[in-house]
Amino acid sequence: TELSKIRNFSIVAHIDHGKSTLADRLIQETGTVAGRDMKAQLLDSMDIERERGITIKANTVRIDYKADDGQDYVLNLIDTPGHVDFAYEVSRSMRAVEGSLLVVDSSQGVEAQTLANVYHAMEADHEIVPILNKIDLPASDCDRVAEQIEDVIGIDASGAIQVSAKTGQGIHDTLEAIVKELPAPKGTRDAPLKAMLVDSWYDSYLGVIVLVRVIDGELKKGMRVKFMSNDTLHGVDRIGVFRPEMETIDVLGPGEIGFFTASIKQVRDTRVGDTITNDRHGCETALDGFKPAQPVVFCGLFPVDSAEFEDLRDAIDKLALNDASFTFEMETSAALGFGFRCGFLGLLHLEVVRDRIEREYDIDLITTAPSVVYHLHMRDGSMRELHNPADMPDMTHVDHLEEPRIKATILVPDEYLGDVLKLCQDRRGLQVDLTYAGSRAMVVYDLPLNEVVFDFYDRLKSVTKGYASFDYQMFGYREDNLVKMSILVNDEPVDALSMMVHRDRADARGRAMVEKLKDLIPRHMFKIPIQAAIGGKVIARETLSAMRKDVTAKCYGGDASRKRKLLDKQKKGKKKMRQFGKVDIPQEAFISALKMD
Ligand code: GDP
Ligand code: MG
Repeated sequence: TELSKIRNFSIVAHIDHGKSTLADRLIQETGTVAGRDMKAQLLDSMDIERERGITIKANTVRIDYKADDGQDYVLNLIDTPGHVDFAYEVSRSMRAVEGSLLVVDSSQGVEAQTLANVYHAMEADHEIVPILNKIDLPASDCDRVAEQIEDVIGIDASGAIQVSAKTGQGIHDTLEAIVKELPAPKGTRDAPLKAMLVDSWYDSYLGVIVLVRVIDGELKKGMRVKFMSNDTLHGVDRIGVFRPEMETIDVLGPGEIGFFTASIKQVRDTRVGDTITNDRHGCETALDGFKPAQPVVFCGLFPVDSAEFEDLRDAIDKLALNDASFTFEMETSAALGFGFRCGFLGLLHLEVVRDRIEREYDIDLITTAPSVVYHLHMRDGSMRELHNPADMPDMTHVDHLEEPRIKATILVPDEYLGDVLKLCQDRRGLQVDLTYAGSRAMVVYDLPLNEVVFDFYDRLKSVTKGYASFDYQMFGYREDNLVKMSILVNDEPVDALSMMVHRDRADARGRAMVEKLKDLIPRHMFKIPIQAAIGGKVIARETLSAMRKDVTAKCYGGDASRKRKLLDKQKKGKKKMRQFGKVDIPQEAFISALKMD
């Protein structure tokens, strides 16, 4: 395809503002997918994505469009994830396209992720077309939202396209704007191949599939290509595009986006942002590489049934094939046995991986307290990373500790501002900025990540009745007075429940934890002390009293089947428990105990 007939773009939006629905409508309007094959949210392919309505992996689709000027165009849409954990994927896929459609729900307005995502688009020098979506809703207010886009984002929204991705209104205008307002890509066909590795994933039939954007030259079937980051060579087996299902073609030219396969075994052998060129007489300079995503939240995953450890290993190996940002190593816990210490981009990422293991591989898991990465500055002058509170060395060897901080941006209607400030303050936040955009306040806080990983987002939603939006960036490390708090059940430390806390908050946290655990742990035939301690010092204590009678005593007479049912029920309940010394602790205790209210 000629460069002048290509348009490459992405859609940026806050979650739920209609990005996926708009993408579906563009695909449908252009007849890319026949009506009967159309199912809602074509691009959101994974089950979890569909269920939760979020897009996790970037997806792409090639659309043929005959414009009003009578010319045939090729439009390449790269769909990007909408959640903060995946900001890195957003920024890298933006580098592969020249423009963005900025979708804002006209009944809601600009939200935190609208801002975060549009900044990525601006950083990538995109031409931006504003779109006001959901104009079919009675609450839609295009003038107000257009003004807000101009005030808050600072781009001209006077010509914003009014769209209902639901009814199809404005879709034709959107296609015309893509052709007229977005720039065509630049590139040279008779130059050495220079292509950007945008994404890669594992397919059980084809092996690793590599998504590329060709900058210069041509990518052809049968040629040998070189990955410039590590000088590896690969023979190209197959080239194609997504419509959105795979369609094989022979050549990808400059400006085009498509995939190839080359008998690559693991996603780890491909580096996102890498430059791909000819094996001989290749291009001279590589593209600026991207920095790899660093996991920021760690937790232990252990099988509830220790016999399932090998199954868990298998599941984790398979998931990691497709997700280079997920890291893991084996871990042994005195209480939980064998498991894995896993690193994630954020809490959503953690939840997604845990859900997939439980659902797709049918393994019940115990998830330990999520922990951030602390920097331990030792007395001997060295620095160590601490991924697991259980590994915390004796404090006498540690000079000081630093914790990661984030810069959080929260947009919230006026009336909830007070609650939001209080929440941030309670989580050791430092206010950086407070501005207004219409009746919405925009607050920027510098917060410790460890106060955010548990339930900050849930709390924010609940205190603002869901009206606040939130986005964050990693900010740096700062020293603070942090200590390791251990939990002892029946005088045995439960390493999976130990956590790092600020010294000033430790007493309150410890008290809350032991009170919760008292409710979460079922009674036994004996008394159970539950304690929180720092070093050797107990800071909070509760005692769970002993059970009085045998539960089956409730079943009078000789109703054997009823008695058996009750015992079966108990047994089932047991499966979700782990034994610590003589005490059974239910699986949900590990998560619930960590939530603060
Ligand atoms: P995304 O998170 O940005 O991908 O948003 P989705 O495309 O998943 O849309 C979120 C919700 O808004 C879904 O329930 C859609 O059906 C709905 N939606 C999307 N566009 C429109 C629209 O133009 N009008 C109305 N009324 N609802 C819409
Ligand atoms: Mg979506």
